[in-house]
Amino acid sequence: MTRVLITGTAGFIGFHLAKYLLAEGFHVHGYDGMTDYYDVTLKQKRHAMLFQNERFAATEGLLENEERLWAVAEEFAPDVIVHLAAQAGVRYSLENPRAYLDSNVIGTFNVMEAARKLGVNHLLMASTSSVYGANTEMPFTETEKADTQLTIYAATKKANESMAHAYAHLYDLPTTMFRFFTVYGPWGRPDLALYKFVDAILDGRSIDIYNHGDMYRDFTYVDDLVRAIRLLIDAVPERPAEGLVPDGDSLSPVAPYRVVNIGNSDKVRLLDFVDAIEDCLGQKAQRNYMGMQTGDVPATWANAELLKTLTGYRPQTDFRDGIARFIAWYRDYYQK
Ligand code: NAD
Repeated sequence: MTRVLITGTAGFIGFHLAKYLLAEGFHVHGYDGMTDYYDVTLKQKRHAMLFQNERFAATEGLLENEERLWAVAEEFAPDVIVHLAAQAGVRYSLENPRAYLDSNVIGTFNVMEAARKLGVNHLLMASTSSVYGANTEMPFTETEKADTQLTIYAATKKANESMAHAYAHLYDLPTTMFRFFTVYGPWGRPDLALYKFVDAILDGRSIDIYNHGDMYRDFTYVDDLVRAIRLLIDAVPERPAEGLVPDGDSLSPVAPYRVVNIGNSDKVRLLDFVDAIEDCLGQKAQRNYMGMQTGDVPATWANAELLKTLTGYRPQTDFRDGIARFIAWYRDYYQK
């Protein structure tokens, strides 16, 4: 039975991953700072649900608190660490960039140090489709250079990838970086589009639609995402037998390290997404068309071939089904 330390278990994705792994018989220890970036009650309720399982325990603490994080890691002695806690959000990084450096750079360094000292079997960490930045060929493929980050959020995640590669190489630490694509579903984040749209429509407020609706996102349903993560836990990367290995026209990394897109490989027009929300709610939105937001990209689209090759699986939930499941949760949770 595998012991997994997950950072960010009170968060949207960490909560779903913990629930999934507990159902599969894993022992899970959560580590979360319960930051107030959004409604802390939502985080407490997610944790309360996880605590119903006796194989779950959690510690409240910041990633920046190296001693606390190490004490938890040493005592729990995980086989695997899945690092999801982060200061997330593209737009907030324009207002408060330092929070991203503290949580995502210093915090991730502390997680890597714990993984190195423990010698875990596999370290898996969250990156984002935002690292693909501007002018990247569609669909986004892991072998792309991805060196044009447009926000400090994306830059800190790209820094995490570089840091992780170095640690994997120097300390023979098998490491997987996930690049997630716009994750949505029940218990979703209040700062993300689906939640904001449903909340505003039901309250009779207008919704902001950026780039005048000419936006595309590869929306990835959270259950599909956590299933992919679970399968990737077993797909431990190995160090190539010798130094740099030619691979097509480039070179494979020397480290036991890989980057994997987790996305639906389906780019959905934002206006179709809004139409589907309206259909499901049986209510029209007041649409406020706006220009492109600084730091945002007009489209994301995952090439999920590597995930399929490694796990035999690829996300498949149709966005209309996923939206319906989110709205069912929202109505039940808020009694609206
Ligand atoms: P979330 O904000 O719901 O969860 C993050 C959790 O981390 C929160 O519970 C928060 O309290 C905790 N946290 C934040 N800073 C911390 C710190 N310094 N110390 C300790 N705990 C801290 O976000 P999420 O949507 O679940 O995202 C999980 C991961 O996936 C993040 O790394 C995020 O950048 C990445 N990601 C998410 C998406 C998405 O669409 N949701 C897309 C791409 C990447």
